[in-house]
Amino acid sequence: MVDLYEFIADVPDFPEEGIVFKDITPLLAHPEAFLQAIDEMAAPYLESGVDMVVGIESRGFLLAGSVAERIGAGVGLVRKAGKLPRKCVSVTYDLEYGSDSLEIHEDAFEAASRVLIVDDVLATGGTLVASKDLIEKAGGQVVGATMLMELTFLEGRERFDGPLHAVLVY
Ligand code: AMP
Repeated sequence: MVDLYEFIADVPDFPEEGIVFKDITPLLAHPEAFLQAIDEMAAPYLESGVDMVVGIESRGFLLAGSVAERIGAGVGLVRKAGKLPRKCVSVTYDLEYGSDSLEIHEDAFEAASRVLIVDDVLATGGTLVASKDLIEKAGGQVVGATMLMELTFLEGRERFDGPLHAVLVY
């Protein structure tokens, strides 16, 4: 076992002043740390009958593929507006300044697919809540979410209705 906290690099004032960016690339680069992180993200959901693991653009994709492989599920993609090539459903959600849109292919799920959401960082929870709405709009049934890390001081967990697992807690 390694200490996963040692593989997260804090980058102050990125991408703007006052934000401490949590850089996961050292963890991704270290085979043992990466494997352990994926094991710990997948563990609570191994017996949950998950059909699809949906990753949120873009670091979520890297984690979602491996979590899906571990669980024995397929992979789905939530992307920024305009990136997916076929017909999509979309949601718009508020950011601190302005708003953003996320999309998923409208036929991403079989009827009543059980979906696990994956991302690297839970901050305010806006992205996670919007992704859940989007998945439900596309006919998926969200069984929970698993995050590599949670920034608890931003209280994103309070906004998400459902089981939520985070491997690293700040
Ligand atoms: P939020 O919607 O506020 O929960 O933000 C979550 C999304 O923004 C995730 O997709 C993260 O990748 C990214 N994010 C937010 N805060 C950070 C941070 N401090 N370091 C790295 N990524 C972040």
